[in-house]
Amino acid sequence: MSLIKSISGIRGTIGGVTGDNLTPIDLARFSAAFATYIAGEVGEGRRPKIVVGRDARISGEMCASIVVGVLEGSGVDVINIGLASTPTVEVAVTGFKADGGIILTASHNPRQWNALKLLGGNGEFLNAEQGAKVLDIAAKEDFNFATVDNLGKTTTADYNKPHIDMVLALPLVDVEAIKARKFKVVVDAVNSVGGVVIPELLRQLGCEVIELNCEPNGEFAHNPEPLKEHLTEISACVAAQKADLGVVVDPDVDRLALVCEDGEMFGEEYTLVAVADYILSKLGGGNTVSNLSSSRALSDVTAIYGGSYEASAVGEVNVVAKMKQNGAVIGGEGNGGIIYPELHYGRDALVGVALFLTYFAAKNMTMSSLRASYPQYYMSKNKAELTPTTDVDAILAKVATKYSEHRVTTIDGVKIDMADGWVHLRKSNTEPIVRIYSEAGTQQRADELAQQLVAELTA
Ligand code: MG
Repeated sequence: MSLIKSISGIRGTIGGVTGDNLTPIDLARFSAAFATYIAGEVGEGRRPKIVVGRDARISGEMCASIVVGVLEGSGVDVINIGLASTPTVEVAVTGFKADGGIILTASHNPRQWNALKLLGGNGEFLNAEQGAKVLDIAAKEDFNFATVDNLGKTTTADYNKPHIDMVLALPLVDVEAIKARKFKVVVDAVNSVGGVVIPELLRQLGCEVIELNCEPNGEFAHNPEPLKEHLTEISACVAAQKADLGVVVDPDVDRLALVCEDGEMFGEEYTLVAVADYILSKLGGGNTVSNLSSSRALSDVTAIYGGSYEASAVGEVNVVAKMKQNGAVIGGEGNGGIIYPELHYGRDALVGVALFLTYFAAKNMTMSSLRASYPQYYMSKNKAELTPTTDVDAILAKVATKYSEHRVTTIDGVKIDMADGWVHLRKSNTEPIVRIYSEAGTQQRADELAQQLVAELTA
């Protein structure tokens, strides 16, 4: 059982003891804190307005009822958009000119988890400073609720259709070109809200859709993180159905993984690489950003078009900040997160699907040959278990010094960029472990690099 409070929201397991889990009391306290924070931002004179949406988790409706009730009790008007993906809530906040948003989703975490993710009036995640303010207010617990004449009011609305329409209207999404190809696509939405929006989007793009796990009932048919080892069902289905490709999203539809026609993974890391290749080819170049743990292939592709690539600390809010700073035209995370500022600054699998299919339609090749056309890199994801008394920061500093003849970045753990690959070490905030990601031109070299660093950390 777990409750994790962080600047990006509060995440925990359903049921059990208050303060140790995401219980109704914890949900209420945190919602009241967010309402207080937003009211402070809005100032006197008008009632704040907050959009609430949720993924299809079993606990979603229960959590949403509490959150909506507490917001009303805090004098906040609510637009409840019901079942909605994370990017849908993000575009709804700006679409409704709301002052903030709450997304009820624990992303790729298993069914017993849920979380509140918090958005500002720009439809983007709160930054560290804003998130810290909410945590502060939640810790103080002296809330001042609205009197009977000042209670907030709730309206309900659907924003799935407007979101799909916005994606289809993007200038670089060529609906007619995709329609002409009549793609056959298998979709695995792990029985969450992706099952509502992704098949609909694909049908509007003239695709024949085969739905796997597209009932939004929160009964995750497999571990919901879109990794190869969890995707055997769609892998077999794409090959058996002779489909052109497979589309996999996580429960809140901000991560997109693609499957090749032969059932092999296109590779989560290559979703962003392919979409960036398309955008850069259309714009004649531009800058890109991903996080430090993402594939070098994006930097290679960016260089081909003469743009500059920069890496940010891990976390969507950090990627977005760096994208704004670098004037990036496309960016995201190697875990299948596409951020296309033309629509909004948030990871959005709907945008990813539409941009990718436009590109794929023009390529006239199979998914596997497209995949083979990119720089080939392999990743290794490991962790080093340390004792609770280990001074992890001191060890990381030592590693940074030892490898200083290479390009070393210390904005988020330690990243060592070598000629033939890289290693990224990040300490966990909750356990005495260091996560070690590496990448190289062969799987063997990537594994070697990781093992070398694991050995050094635990020596
Ligand atoms: Mg997610």
